[in-house]
Amino acid sequence: MKEKRKGMLLVISGPSGAGKGTLVSRLLDKDPTFCFSVSVTTRERRENEIEDVHYHFISDEEYDKLLAEDAFIEHASVHGHRYGTLKNEVYERMERGQNVLLDIDPQGAKTVMAKEKECVSVFILPPSYHDLKVRLHTRNTENEEEIQRRLNNAKGEIQQMNKYRYLIVNDDLELAFDQLMAVVRAEKQNSVRYIPEIEE
Ligand code: ADP
Ligand code: 5GP
Repeated sequence: MKEKRKGMLLVISGPSGAGKGTLVSRLLDKDPTFCFSVSVTTRERRENEIEDVHYHFISDEEYDKLLAEDAFIEHASVHGHRYGTLKNEVYERMERGQNVLLDIDPQGAKTVMAKEKECVSVFILPPSYHDLKVRLHTRNTENEEEIQRRLNNAKGEIQQMNKYRYLIVNDDLELAFDQLMAVVRAEKQNSVRYIPEIEE
């Protein structure tokens, strides 16, 4: 049988500091069948971030233009900044059979889960609020006010975790990554994405 299938849309979400970015970059290193959907954002670029690799950093005017052009699959205001997933980062690649990975906040994930029923949604949970707080401080990429805002938002976000197909507690990173890879391995065999084409 020739294998012909559509790509998987893998949606990774969870509160800020849970470890989404860490797990996502490991997955991208390990599995070349995945490509990352680079989002647009109006927030400032951090020192370690690369334009068009981590985000497309754009102005409010450019963001408004994309909104007017209906360029987004989803978009949301997250912790005071605007973010959006571009259709042209996702659909063509999936049609070509490529797997596409989104790292988006729970508001955006809700929209994508409603629109794309076959997406594989994974919620990353921290072991505790205490750990979340420590991780955000250790990461050292936000000021105290930003950290507080992210911690306050985490409570509401975590209440939505049962809306996702999979839940992974990121306590031990190795274990969490193994669990994510187990989800990916199983979902690659999900029959929904296979296009029937059996030779005589
Ligand atoms: P997110 O993308 O969800 O905001 P990050 O991947 O940036 O979170 O992780 C937040 C911080 O926590 C980073 O400093 C990262 O190195 C650290 N981290 C991630 N996973 C773990 C883990 N399992 N145990 C301890 N620290 C972790
Ligand atoms: P950060 O600013 O720390 O990179 O990301 C803040 C939050 O925005 C994270 O939860 C991240 O997953 C989310 N995010 C990144 N890109 C998008 C996007 O395109 N859409 C939505 N809804 N959230 C995003």
